[in-house]
Amino acid sequence: MQIDGSLRSLLQSVSKALQAGRPSDAVHLFIKALAHDRSFHQGDRPIQLAKALGKMRFLALVRAFADHPCMACENGVHECDACNGRGAFDDWRICDSCVGIGTSDCEFCAGSGWITYNYVPDSLRPAVAVVRSKRTLSEARRLLATPLPGNAARDPAVARRALVQRLLQLNRLMGAVNNALDAARDATKTGRSAEHALRGVEAACLKLAIRLDRAARQVLLGLKESWRLEATRTGTAEKRRLCERRVAYYASLVRSRHFRGTSLFHPVLFEIHRRRTTR
Ligand SMILES: [Zn+2]
Ligand SMILES: [Zn+2]
Repeated sequence: MQIDGSLRSLLQSVSKALQAGRPSDAVHLFIKALAHDRSFHQGDRPIQLAKALGKMRFLALVRAFADHPCMACENGVHECDACNGRGAFDDWRICDSCVGIGTSDCEFCAGSGWITYNYVPDSLRPAVAVVRSKRTLSEARRLLATPLPGNAARDPAVARRALVQRLLQLNRLMGAVNNALDAARDATKTGRSAEHALRGVEAACLKLAIRLDRAARQVLLGLKESWRLEATRTGTAEKRRLCERRVAYYASLVRSRHFRGTSLFHPVLFEIHRRRTTR
């Protein structure tokens, strides 16, 4: 690969940014280096250019892309646009979009909180997907091993806050799995070199998706239980009916097959499941 003077100095600034612990700057500078020549976006050119930084810097650059945050959200969530964060349109109509919690997942990053794979140069995507998936898997293992927080019997409202927090964490991991599978599918289609590594990722991600889905349903059951307890303790008949409305809502959500139309729905996982069950 031809590396002229100005490209070399761009790559040197990528290297310096990585060395100085400024991964976001390194990502921006690398994108700038790719813009140096239109052909750099094609085929394996981005990965060749990244490898020209040397092995350690190449790995650091892959990690920098993997960690780069989504520009449209913070940690994959934002206040629900449909209900303006209230969780309901009036007291009776619960917002399906955010499943009544007022916080929705980001449409750009599918709730993962990471920059979308579209932003990552084509040939670097498999390596980034491998790093992200490993991170998702170890984070998920930790979370799934932690008992569900809160004691609804003592204080349903406090228990609910903890359950909502857990649901958001699970959904963020689900978004990351969804995107990793999408990237793996794309890379496999184009026969990229990291295909083999991605196959392992794909199998692990699918297994994890099932466990995350199960855990999310447990949390929804917890929410249902907290509203049921609240209904037994509330003073007025109207408040009790409102609580019972929530109990019915979460009971039906637990039975929903794919959470379609809500922020818990993940299109790639749904697509894979549909293909497997209709085979
Ligand atoms: Zn909402
Ligand atoms: Zn986002």
